[in-house]
Amino acid sequence: LGIDVGSTASKCIVLKDGKEIVAKSLIDVGAGTSGPQRAIEAVLNEAGMKKEDMAYTLATGYGRTSLMDGIADKQMSELSCHAKGATFLFPNVHTVIDIGGQDVKVLHIDNGAMTNFQMNDKCAAGTGRFLDVMARVLNVPIEQLGPLSETSEHPATISNTCTVFAESEVISQLSAKVPLADIAAGIHNSVAKRVAGMALRLGRPGCMAMSGGVALNTGVVRAMEREMGCPILVDPLCQSAGAIGAAVLAYEKLSKSKE
Ligand code: ADP
Repeated sequence: LGIDVGSTASKCIVLKDGKEIVAKSLIDVGAGTSGPQRAIEAVLNEAGMKKEDMAYTLATGYGRTSLMDGIADKQMSELSCHAKGATFLFPNVHTVIDIGGQDVKVLHIDNGAMTNFQMNDKCAAGTGRFLDVMARVLNVPIEQLGPLSETSEHPATISNTCTVFAESEVISQLSAKVPLADIAAGIHNSVAKRVAGMALRLGRPGCMAMSGGVALNTGVVRAMEREMGCPILVDPLCQSAGAIGAAVLAYEKLSKSKE
């Protein structure tokens, strides 16, 4: 069992023999809430199994330590788990950009092992939090922000990357009657510029993928492709990449302990 206790969502994956995903769950509240417990119950329910049936449980994510009192056998950093999870989803991946609720990570991977990384966890700019705040100001559900932005013909310019200032900028564009689609496209371009700058500081990407919940936002993915100048792979399980990696690492720990 792999559990990712994120800042915004709790994700679980049950993996069989290190290869086959037999059950998954996602509860959209994270660390410091009942989310992790509910995600565990949901995944066990889906698998038709009990916690005792899990050979090894590994926790990752912002709130992972909360599971070390009897739930998880081990905890590991998000970077290790995201690198593993991305390699599970995209075996030939070289660069992974993970945008979660509270941080942005850029990982370089060589043959499944992480070789370099950049992380921004000091500021909400460029994260899911930034997008969630903007979606609320626009009064658009977060899952519709991507499709809405793709109808834009004249993306607005959002010049502030700071969430607080960008929020005021969006409010003044709304009162100037700028179309919602153009503001949404401007928001995505601003996130993409910031994250692409971070990714390019680490070097030109080879085969590139996005993970984390923000990879579900097609507007951000398309804007990132334009900024990076290359196609970006996304899997429907992108938000669970950390939990998948945790489950793969749980399998590897177990196999080692049996050697
Ligand atoms: P964490 O691991 O920090 O909890 P996640 O990787 O789960 O973060 O990503 C959470 C973010 O994903 C949210 O802040 C939100 O912006 C974005 N997100 C989640 N679901 C969707 C969706 N269906 N469409 C667009 N964005 C989404």
